[in-house]
This record gives sequence, structure tokens and C-alpha cells, in this order.
Amino acid sequence: MTQLDATALDNFKQRISGEVVTPGDPEFDTLRRIHNGMIDRNPAVIVRCIGVADVIDAVQLAVSQNLEIAVRGGGHNVAGRAVCDDGMMIDLSLMKGTWVDPRSRRIRAQGGVTWGEFNRATQVHGLAATGGAISSTGVAGLTLGGGFGYLMGKLGLTIDNLHAAELVTAQGEVLRASADENGELFWGLRGGGGNFGVVTSLEFDLHEIGPRVNGGMIAFPFTDGARFLDIYREITSATDDDFSLLAGFTHARDGSGTKLAAMLPCHCGSAKAVGKVFDSIRSIGMPAVDTLAPMPYTALNELLDPGVPKLDLYYWKSCFIDDISDDVGRILMEQFEITPSPQCKLFLEHFHGAAIKPDASATAFPHRKPGYSVLIIAQWTDSSLSDSCIAWARETYRRLLEHSDGGVYSNYMDDDETARLGNAYGDNLPRLQALKNTYDPDNIFHLNQNIPPTK
Ligand SMILES: Cc1cc2nc3c(=O)[nH]c(=O)nc-3n(C[C@H](O)[C@H](O)[C@H](O)COP(=O)(O)OP(=O)(O)OC[C@H]3O[C@@H](n4cnc5c(N)ncnc54)[C@H](O)[C@@H]3O)c2cc1C
Repeated sequence: MTQLDATALDNFKQRISGEVVTPGDPEFDTLRRIHNGMIDRNPAVIVRCIGVADVIDAVQLAVSQNLEIAVRGGGHNVAGRAVCDDGMMIDLSLMKGTWVDPRSRRIRAQGGVTWGEFNRATQVHGLAATGGAISSTGVAGLTLGGGFGYLMGKLGLTIDNLHAAELVTAQGEVLRASADENGELFWGLRGGGGNFGVVTSLEFDLHEIGPRVNGGMIAFPFTDGARFLDIYREITSATDDDFSLLAGFTHARDGSGTKLAAMLPCHCGSAKAVGKVFDSIRSIGMPAVDTLAPMPYTALNELLDPGVPKLDLYYWKSCFIDDISDDVGRILMEQFEITPSPQCKLFLEHFHGAAIKPDASATAFPHRKPGYSVLIIAQWTDSSLSDSCIAWARETYRRLLEHSDGGVYSNYMDDDETARLGNAYGDNLPRLQALKNTYDPDNIFHLNQNIPPTK
């Protein structure tokens, strides 16, 4: 274990504007915990930065003291990459600044902003960018991996809306990356994760969306699962770019264990197009829940929040599939039938429209083809179920893998999956490694979906 030099820490405390929290401080236990209750780590120091200068000083202290660095944006990474044992947690969650310019339709958001905060700031002006489906997910971590959300059919992934980013490198340098400035770094930040430095702020291009969109949740008894998947396949094969459809198998939130097949559409098109799609969805059967209606875009982005509370226990697996074949449908249904806890879920995110228009090498995120990302969410509250829930996720994944080319979204990767780096970054991996050699040759930033330097 590396010992943090007391004098160096004292000097650092005097200098920075944010807060320094160490074991024994009253807030330490609250601040070290992240969204996934499975992750229970004890850093030597938590630095709660409030600006770029704090981040520079924190990185320099960690490097000089030989401390591992974990960067916390929203703290949602299920593998727990935001926190480490014995090292430094650079916690950006006090960096909440958002500046929206409605004329240029652009926002600058600091590294600790969540999607709920982002949407609140942009929807004041009837503007939006593709963001995550849960309001407490961090803008920074989600964006750096790619960014899937309700608007991806229309506006592309979150990275396709990114205009620029400011980051602090391992050498303590501040760089701005955009199409015109440090262009190669900008390419790598759009999918290459936290490998190149600490991102202190992100600028996004915004688009006219809302304040109301057509969406909500509709859920059918799981016994309608086969028809549900048929209709889902039919709708997603014909869908237009104004429309995205998140769907999957979940449980009723009343704790009864009732299994449901649920869809969460988001449609920004004409009333006629909305009516047609909603009619198709409703043709599945008699819904147990139906809230489909015009609703505030901000509300749509909070609908799923209660189902994924902080400190529940989580383990995720994921892969891309081209098609929901009969075999895939059967696996999804058979596996959901035997979930070991009443919180487990299986979700399908549809890849189409603007999300698949860019070439696979246009950004570091390579998965630009039609299909679906399958997200296997093992979730439970009773720790005695840990083994069975993890085994269920792994078995579901193992069965699905036969129908996948192995591709995976880096933000959904589990910690034991470094062997899947090639599946996450595809043919972009060598170019990302070259970038890592340039910006972080000593792999100071390695507690992420790590791209090891090659020299
Ligand atoms: C409940 C839930 C819902 C989710 N929904 C979606 C969704 O709708 N769409 C989607 O695409 N993904 C979603 N995700 C996955 C999400 O994209 C990743 O978990 C992502 O890592 C979360 O970002 P964060 O800032 O909250 O993460 P953190 O856990 O804070 O950070 C994760 C990692 O990201 C990197 N990182 C974070 N901030 C910075 C920074 N400022 N500078 C440099 N590196 C940084 C670091 O490597 C860090 O270790 C969801 C996750 C959860 C738990």
C-alpha cells in the first residue's frame, strides 16, 4: 500500500479550492460509495475538485506520491471504475456548472454534471442532445464511452453531439480538443473512455427537442413475451429516425416479482407517425401499464430512475446482436423466466438512424451498424443472492454470445473483461493505443476501460 506523505497532503489542502476528504472524516464513507453497492473500496484520499486548477494539482499530487487515480463523474460505472483502494479518487461531483447559449445552440457542462442536470438546463430553451436514460448518470463517463439514449435514432450517439472537451493530462497540462484543435485527441475522446486524462468540461451541440416528446412506458404480462418480441422486431425493422424504442423484460416495482415485458418509446415526429407506432405497440395485447402520451422530455428521462436505486447490488453483461432471431428471443425469454431476484432485467437498445450513419472509424466508438445492444442487468438487494445473480448474468451472456460477433459497448463492460478490449474498440484499437502512447505513456489513467500503451 502506498503511504500518502502527510506534509505533501497538508500543502495540497492549503492550495486547493475544493475539499480533501480522508479516512476518518465524517463524509468519507458516504463519498467513497458509488452507485453499485457491490463496490466497497477505500481510497487513501478523496479530492473534491471545484475547478480545473484543483484537478491539475490533484493529478500532480497523485503522480508525485505514486497513488493510483480513479476519476468519478456521476459514479455510475457498474464495474466501479470511479473508486479505488488506497489511491486517490478525483471526485468531480461538485463541478456542476452548465452554460447554455441558446443562440449558438451549445452547452458547456463541467465534469460532474449528471444527465438530469444537463436536461434541466437545456430544456429551459427547448434544446437537447442525446443523453442517458437515467437522470443520475454522469455526462462525462457516459459521453466518453459513446452514449446511448432516447434520442439516438434522431441525433446519433452522445459523442455525435459533442463539440469539444477540455482535459487535464497526466503531465498536468490543460488541452482543448475539438475538430479544429487536437483533432486526433478529439477523435479518441469520442469512445475511448477516460484513458487520456481528466475531462473537466464538455461542449455539446444542441437541437430543438421538447419540451414535450411522445413517450412513456407500456408494459404487458410476460406471458405475452413472444408476441411482444415479434412486434418489437417488426417496429424496429421499419422505424424512422425520429423514433427510438427501448424495450425489455423487467419486474413490477411493487416487489411482487410479477414479470413484465416493457417498451419505452420516444418519438419526436408527426402526430400521424406517432399514432401509427403507438397503435402497433398497443396491438401486443392488454397492457398492465400504459402511460404513452405527450410528456416532458425531462420526465421521460426520469421514468426508469426508481428501478435502479443507488446501492442496490449490480452486475452487468452486454453484447451487440444483429437480429432478434427466434433463437435469441427464446434465450431472452427462457433466461428471464429464471431470474434469481425480482430486480433483474434484460434490455434491448435499438441501433438505427443517426446512430449508425457515421463510419466505424469516424470516432473511437466502432459499433456503427444496425442491430441491438443487449444489456443483461443482474440486480439484487440481498447479498446472499450474489453468486446466483452473477451466475445468471454470465449464463445469459454465454448463451447470447453464440448469436453475437462479440462486440460490446465499453461503458457496459464488466471489470473482468479486459480480454474483450478488441470487442469494445474493434479496428480502432491500434489508433487508440497510438493516442495513449502520446498522451499517457505511463498509463497513469488506467482505472477505466483501459487501453494499455504499447511502448
Ligand atoms: C443506472 C445506470 C443507467 C445507465 N444508463 C445508460 C444509458 O442510458 N446510456 C449509456 O450510454 N450508458 C448508460 N449507463 C452506463 C454509463 O454510460 C457508464 O456507467 C458510465 O461510465 C457512467 O458515467 P459516470 O460519469 O456516471 O461514471 P463514473 O463511474 O463516475 O466514471 C466511470 C469511468 O468513466 C471515466 N470518467 C468519468 N468521468 C470522467 C472525467 N470527467 N474525465 C475522465 N474520465 C472520466 C473514468 O474512467 C471513470 O472511471 C448507465 C449506467 C447505470 C448504472
